[in-house]
Amino acid sequence: MALAISPNSAIRTRIDAASKAHLSPCWTCSTCDQECPINRASGRLRPQKLVRMATLGLTDAMLPLADLWYCLTCRRCTNVCPNQVKPESLIGHLRTEAVRRGLVSIDTYRNYKMFFMHFQRIRLQMATDLLRGKTTALEAKDWSSWLNKPQPANGDGDVVFIKNAPAGAVWRADIDSFKVSACFTCSECSNACPIAGDRKVFDPQWIFRMANLGLIEPLLTSPAIWLCLQCGRCSDTCGQLVQGRQIIEFLQQKAITDGYVPADFPFRWAHAQSWVYSEFVGQVDALLSAPH
Ligand code: SF4
Ligand code: SF4
Ligand code: SF4
Repeated sequence: MALAISPNSAIRTRIDAASKAHLSPCWTCSTCDQECPINRASGRLRPQKLVRMATLGLTDAMLPLADLWYCLTCRRCTNVCPNQVKPESLIGHLRTEAVRRGLVSIDTYRNYKMFFMHFQRIRLQMATDLLRGKTTALEAKDWSSWLNKPQPANGDGDVVFIKNAPAGAVWRADIDSFKVSACFTCSECSNACPIAGDRKVFDPQWIFRMANLGLIEPLLTSPAIWLCLQCGRCSDTCGQLVQGRQIIEFLQQKAITDGYVPADFPFRWAHAQSWVYSEFVGQVDALLSAPH
């Protein structure tokens, strides 16, 4: 039987105002869908669909969707939209609303936040394995052990050094062009970063401090720089105008051009992440359906 949809412009206006997602200009081009790493990995999250539902005022149909919780908050959808629509802002608003209305319990929300934080351990392990030249993918049976494995403090542990890498010189001027020397280690960037819940796994302030001290080689060989989602929150929030996102992107490119990581690493990393994201979606499903 066909589903009757009753567009509600009053609700649409309320969602748009509350989420600041700038919904109206969406022309359903699906550019956001094509860029979304979760959609590409699993086909389970379509930001364009959510924007379309919001423009029709279908809040009640959207709030129970598990799709909202698959989102990595990477802002790729927002960054590629030719019309400046912000699907990630919409998703953030809908999550808040789902919790506020009790569709997702506080306990489930806390568990989700904890899970997302620990999920970064798996990404770190995957990056470490790939940099070591491991070709076999992390297996599903290893998932829970990596999820529950605490990491050593940054700089104390599993930093990967590739032998025979050229003695690369990263130009101080390059790093300084991103204003890193203005950093006064306030940690606002780490507080804003969606994947820095466990600073032993990923900590943008640590990366910028290391860069500021000229300790570049450990950064270029660290798997941590590959975890960055390139969302830009660190850059947006920094009162000193340090361009954190650009610094990490620069370090990634420098690691390749100076031979610290193989040239094909970004492709292998993207492939590995695709597998991880597909597993992630299944784990979120299980978490949302678990009894409390
Ligand atoms: S912010 Fe969410 S919806 Fe947007 S591209 Fe990233 S994972 Fe996909
Ligand atoms: S927010 Fe800016 S000043 Fe503060 S620690 Fe991060 S980079 Fe440094
Ligand atoms: S761009 Fe900045 S805030 Fe976003 S994931 Fe990377 S370090 Fe964290």
